[in-house]
Amino acid sequence: MAKIIDGKEVAKKTREKLKKQCEELKKQGIEPKFAVILVGDNPASKVYVKNKSKAAQEVGILFEEYTLDANIEQKELIQLIQELNHRKDIHGILLQSPIPNHLDINEAFRTIAVEKDIDGFHPTNVGKLALGQDTFVSCTPYGIMKMLEEYQISLEGKNVVIIGRSNIVGKPLCQCCLNKNATVTICHSKTKELVNHTKKADVIMVAIGKPKFLTKDMVKEGAVVIDVGINRTEEGKLVGDVDFEEVEKIASYITPVPGGVGPMTIAMLMNNVIKAAKQINHK
Ligand code: NAD
Repeated sequence: MAKIIDGKEVAKKTREKLKKQCEELKKQGIEPKFAVILVGDNPASKVYVKNKSKAAQEVGILFEEYTLDANIEQKELIQLIQELNHRKDIHGILLQSPIPNHLDINEAFRTIAVEKDIDGFHPTNVGKLALGQDTFVSCTPYGIMKMLEEYQISLEGKNVVIIGRSNIVGKPLCQCCLNKNATVTICHSKTKELVNHTKKADVIMVAIGKPKFLTKDMVKEGAVVIDVGINRTEEGKLVGDVDFEEVEKIASYITPVPGGVGPMTIAMLMNNVIKAAKQINHK
């Protein structure tokens, strides 16, 4: 039976450490603060924003929420980002995705000041990650790296297979694993004979958004399995991309859903806000 990687617990510990750092900053007269921009009323996004505000409160980080109408024009969104870029009291800016289709999310991400890009989506920060330089690492891959570190699971020389190549998870995750000296294969919807890749993997990371997609027969005995997926079943239950009950029988370590990658993503966002507040004030 696999050991469970308890993301909830690691996230709690991370928040406690960050709370101390936040108190230190406050003693120096710096009040870490970030802004979240929510466009429209996507119910899942509202839940994410609520969870982020809860974590911020726990750490002692200040938080401003901007809820924009779904019909907003691109220029209004850009103008808000520019205003927030100029605000000295705001250290981080987060644009909650998805945003409505008529808006250009890439232009919006590019507009966020590089030093306030707590989600790590600005092309400059994406490039820095690819070059192995210090940067804001996007929160989900960063959280996964921290969890592995906490459980002393080294990626060096390991065959890592990532399923999913999105800009927010799969691609930055690939860079993070490369930076840890893993041999990385990135699979996606056009990959042929996926099982041939997953069967050879020492570590499998799944981020596709398909309930119970990774089944036991696709996993090598003793592999480490990281489940990024968040899916809701018809009964309203939250499940990942991994068939947890079956895969845990042969994996060495596995992350549950809920309570695995999700809480770490939010904890690393808080980490990035503290980092931004420190960096902006040291300039
Ligand atoms: P996305 O929809 O942007 O991309 C999905 C990726 O999966 C694509 O690259 C696609 O090629 C690949 N894919 C789809 N079907 C496939 C198949 N049959 N075989 C192989 N590859 C396939 O997804 P995303 O934004 O990266 O999110 C993925 C999942 O992770 C979703 O469930 C999302 O809710 C979840 N997520 C969780 C967190 C967290 O904090 N836990 C953060 C971000 C995303």
